[in-house]
Amino acid sequence: MSTSINALPYAYIRGKIVPIEQATVSIMTHAFNYGTAVFGGIRGYTAHDKSSVGIFRIDDHIKRLYDACKIMRMPKPLPEKELKNLLIELVKKNKPKTDFYVRTNVYNSSYNVTPNLHNMEFDLSIYIFPLGEYLDISKGLRAGVSSWTRVSDNMIPSRSKASGGYINSSLARQEAELNGFDEAVVLDRDGHVTEGSSENIFLVRDGILITPTLSNDILEGVTRRSIIELAKDLEIPIEVRTVDRSELYVADEAFYSGTGAQVAWISSVDHRTIGDGKIGPITKKLQETFFNVVRGKDSKYSSWLTRV
Ligand code: PMP
Repeated sequence: MSTSINALPYAYIRGKIVPIEQATVSIMTHAFNYGTAVFGGIRGYTAHDKSSVGIFRIDDHIKRLYDACKIMRMPKPLPEKELKNLLIELVKKNKPKTDFYVRTNVYNSSYNVTPNLHNMEFDLSIYIFPLGEYLDISKGLRAGVSSWTRVSDNMIPSRSKASGGYINSSLARQEAELNGFDEAVVLDRDGHVTEGSSENIFLVRDGILITPTLSNDILEGVTRRSIIELAKDLEIPIEVRTVDRSELYVADEAFYSGTGAQVAWISSVDHRTIGDGKIGPITKKLQETFFNVVRGKDSKYSSWLTRV
C-alpha cells in the first residue's frame, strides 16, 4: 500500500502562504540533489463529535524538528511559537474535512552542488494532505525482516528525521513489498531490532510491553512516547530495552506505532505467526485508548490536542 498525495489547496514556502501549485522548487536545489533536509510529520484528527479538528502533539513535533535542525546546524526557520501559529493558520485556511497530515520540511534551498551543510541557505516548506490509514490497521500486517541495515546514528543521525536517511527506509519498504510483506523490520548492525521503515515497533511477551531503546538507532517517535505514557497509565508493565530478531518470532503480540501507522498490529514476522494470529489484548487496549485520545474522547489527554 502506498500513500499518494492529493494535497489541500494552500501550502507555505519562501516565507508565504501560496496555492499548492506554486509551492515548487528548482532542480538545482541542494536538498533535491542530496536529501539535505529535515522534516516533520504531524497528524490532525477530526474530533469524535465533528466539532473541531485536533492537531496531535504539535509542540513535541516542533521540538523534534528543531532538535533535528540543531543536529544538522541548520537555523530554526522561525521561533517555535511562530511556527506553531503558522501551522495552525495553515490548517485553518485549508479547512480540512477529514483526518490529515502536515508535512514540514526545513531544506537546504541553496543552488550549490557541494555536498555540505555549512554556509548554505535554508527554507521552510509546509503542505497538508488528507490521510486515512497509512498502513491497514484493520487486519494484521505481515512483517518481514529486511536485509538492509538501519543507518546508525553516526551515519545519518537516527533521531533527526533527515530526508536523505529515508533512502534506507525506502529500500527496506521496497524489499518488504517485493517479498510479499506489508512492512519491514529493520535491524541494526548487531542484528538487534530497531524499527519499521517509518514506524517504531513494540512487542508483548508474558504481559510485558517491550520496545527498543532510544540508543538502538531509532527515531524518537512521538507516537512511541505516547504509547509508553498510555501503557504506564493503564498499568501495563513496560521494558525499554534491546530486542533480538528471534524475540519477535516468539512474541505474543507485536505492533508498529507512528504518525502515519498510528497503532498497526502485526500478525506475522518472517512467516512466523505472532501469538494466535489475532490482535492481542494489550495491542487492542492501547489501540482503542490511542484512538479515543486522538479523537478527543479522553479528556485526560486533552493537552495532547491543539483544537482548531
Ligand atoms: N521511525 C521512523 C523512521 C519514522 O519515519 C517514523 C515516522 N515519523 C517513526 C519511527 C514514528 O515516529 P512518530 O511516531 O513521531 O511519527
